Amino acid sequence: MRINFNVPPYTGKEFDYVKECVENQKICGDGPFTAKDNEWFEKKTGVSKCLLTTSCTHATEMSALLAGIKEGDEVIMPSFTFVSTANAFVLRGAKIVFVDIRPDTMNIDENLIEAAITPKTKAIVPVHYAGVGCEMDTIMDIAKRHNLLVIEDAAQGVMATYKGRALGSIGDMGNYSFHETKNYSMGEGGALLLRDERFVDQAIIIREKGTNRTLYKLGKVDKYSWIMPGSSFLPSDMNAAYLYAQLQMADEINNARLDHWNRYNEALRPLAEAGLIELPYVPEECKHNAHMYYIKCKDFEERKGLIEYLTGHDILPASHYVPLHSSTAGVKYSVFHGEDRYTTKESERLLRLPMYYKLTDDDLDEVVMRVKEYYKFS
Ligand SMILES: *Cc1c(COP(=O)(O)O)cnc(C)c1O
Repeated sequence: MRINFNVPPYTGKEFDYVKECVENQKICGDGPFTAKDNEWFEKKTGVSKCLLTTSCTHATEMSALLAGIKEGDEVIMPSFTFVSTANAFVLRGAKIVFVDIRPDTMNIDENLIEAAITPKTKAIVPVHYAGVGCEMDTIMDIAKRHNLLVIEDAAQGVMATYKGRALGSIGDMGNYSFHETKNYSMGEGGALLLRDERFVDQAIIIREKGTNRTLYKLGKVDKYSWIMPGSSFLPSDMNAAYLYAQLQMADEINNARLDHWNRYNEALRPLAEAGLIELPYVPEECKHNAHMYYIKCKDFEERKGLIEYLTGHDILPASHYVPLHSSTAGVKYSVFHGEDRYTTKESERLLRLPMYYKLTDDDLDEVVMRVKEYYKFS
């Protein structure tokens, strides 16, 4: 493809930092770069603790362990999300309870959550789709009144805010992804954000195979031993070094992406005004991070035609999630509470256009030109 859907971010400093790790023989987990990354996020988001992990999937699995999720518990989330959001809780024996999304943001409909709560409910997992925040004030209020934990899937939400607060720092726990398809990358990687001190010590132990090795290294305990069930959720410092180069350029990357997003939005507005497509919506209280630019076609068939048209012109667009409740595992491990008014219908007509840090204006303009051609719009 001449214009790819995604090109992983690269700033130029990554290799120098990885080289530094190798030369200093500091390549295992929790080295100097991991500490720098953690501090960077703590400062940026205001959380008590950030713990770099091997993926957002693993950060979510850690969250499920910390939340004490067990057989028979219920966890509420949208069905329009990545499998990892659900898997982490299914692995602990929970039943997933999906509720419908809002058609405007593709985020969980905060007004449908309360009716899905039962005495077995333990947590709500909002997913900030496209880096646009869910209606967090409403969600936090529901959680407080029902004594539930809120675990934010902020995989796509790095650098985005809701009412001035960083996505991932509002709920009890937040999960970031640094997969190569995300705004900032370390190949594979993620982070667990802990808003307050409550879960910090336990999280450190779980991440280090269930031992208190980290506390021992800090001189907080005088013996290093097995404390509780855990796993190996810490990445090599070489990956952390790669990410650090990008964090140092975080504003530059974010601004470049926002420029692309705004350029798409301006150029495609006439098509929306003509009623041919729909454009993304960002609520006033949300500052997004241009994680993606999507449009909505009339229906599945029209989207199929557009995908074929763009692909035929060497441009790679991408549809997105097949709703989890309709998948093989979803049928087994989940229920959809209430009516699926929007989840399936909206997911079938959403199309993501090429979006990445170094996307050029020329390439972006060509994508727009081809979309207009497909709709015979001039
Ligand atoms: C990317 C993504 C994940 C998984 O992230 P990994 O770091 O690849 O494990 C989870 N949830 C959402 C919403 C994502 O977009």
